[in-house]
Amino acid sequence: MADALSRAPASDPQTTDLKFINEVIAYIRRTIEILPASAQKLDEIRQAQETDTELSEIRKHCLNGWPGYMPQNPLLQQYFKNRQHLTIVDDLLFYDDRIVIPLQLRLDTLNRLHEGHQGVTKCQALARTSVWWPNITGQIEEMVRKCQTCSKLRPAAKEPLLPSSIPDRPWSRLGMDLFELKGKTYLIVVDYLSRWIDMRPFHQLSSAATINAIKSVFATHGIPDVVMSDNGPQFSSYEFQKFAENYGFTHTTSSPKFPQSNGEAERAVQTLKNLLKKSDDPYLALLTYRSTPIHNGLAPSEILMGRKLRTRLPVHPSTLQPTLLNKELWKKKEEDYKEKQRLNYNARHAVKTPPNLNPGDSVFIKDMQTPGQILERHNSPRSFIVRTEKGTLRRNQSHLVATPGAAPPTPRRTPHQNCQPAKPTPPALPVPPATVATPGMTTRSGRAVKAPDKLNL
Ligand SMILES: [Zn+2]
Repeated sequence: MADALSRAPASDPQTTDLKFINEVIAYIRRTIEILPASAQKLDEIRQAQETDTELSEIRKHCLNGWPGYMPQNPLLQQYFKNRQHLTIVDDLLFYDDRIVIPLQLRLDTLNRLHEGHQGVTKCQALARTSVWWPNITGQIEEMVRKCQTCSKLRPAAKEPLLPSSIPDRPWSRLGMDLFELKGKTYLIVVDYLSRWIDMRPFHQLSSAATINAIKSVFATHGIPDVVMSDNGPQFSSYEFQKFAENYGFTHTTSSPKFPQSNGEAERAVQTLKNLLKKSDDPYLALLTYRSTPIHNGLAPSEILMGRKLRTRLPVHPSTLQPTLLNKELWKKKEEDYKEKQRLNYNARHAVKTPPNLNPGDSVFIKDMQTPGQILERHNSPRSFIVRTEKGTLRRNQSHLVATPGAAPPTPRRTPHQNCQPAKPTPPALPVPPATVATPGMTTRSGRAVKAPDKLNL
């Protein structure tokens, strides 16, 4: 019987088989019986349908037959297009086996559909089992998108990988990081072009010790143009800033809480940790790494210094002679490799391009669980300066969720003798779909909208 409905022929209703109509009515009657709606609720809907301007007209057409065309009324045309689905059973207007909800009950119904904060698909599926009105699908989508509870808990979609551009020459851009292994701290330095890795063990974790270690690396290979690191205290100190100025290189840090932007150094740390863990002679391991061809077919030492290094492997002395690199050829290889990496990453993580955030936008800062407002873009990609109740901070886009319609936070003021301390602004209610009122508020006509209790249609 249920199938009879979904196969309902879209032909002229006048010629429809009477037996078929009776079957449909019997089916819908049974649906009413099993609908999770109390008789009282059905009465309420019935009355609201009768008083609703649109629906009262539609009900008339259902009972007395539809005109050949619908006058220029976009609202009524939505019903006209679906007239094959509309029936009246027990004085209630139905769309197939779904109750047609009049305007004044739609917001309440939307809230009930979204109880438990299920996603768009689930809410729409629930609607398909019970209720209908024109553009219900779009309104559900809008409601879920604007739901603040949902946006706070939405898992972050991985962002597309930003491939770091290829430096023009070796030792121009370096990544740096500190890491610990077997109770010892090391400084690691990696060249973005050649992947040459250098390391220095530490005895003391201070900014001065870090700077000294870096100086000794620079003494061998020269001073780079750019150093990238995380925001560790050794790198963000005043001394380090002075050191960068003094030696003449630019120091960039990744966004706090988003070390991925220091990617090359992070990967080098992994490579090095593996080498150090597995080998008894870490320096021999490092030598092997530096003389092994990487993805572009050349060893780090060849790219950085134009020659192969002598290892314990027997080689003909001529292969150890310095050679000039075909720069164009390996640059091409390098670009191909980066592109392949980017595509792989995007495919693996089902990345989504995040929505554009602009100054003035309200956001929710996920790692801090607090609302904020975008003040400006930071000059690192995807990084923003955000104002919160507690002050201004910098966050990567992956920690920010746009919350359109939320009130911007007010910075906390110092309590004053004669004033009340400023209270944090609660997040604003979601902006309702165009035709409905906001819950917990009054409609334009002044009628109070009561909060939904439970799905009890
Ligand atoms: Zn929600």
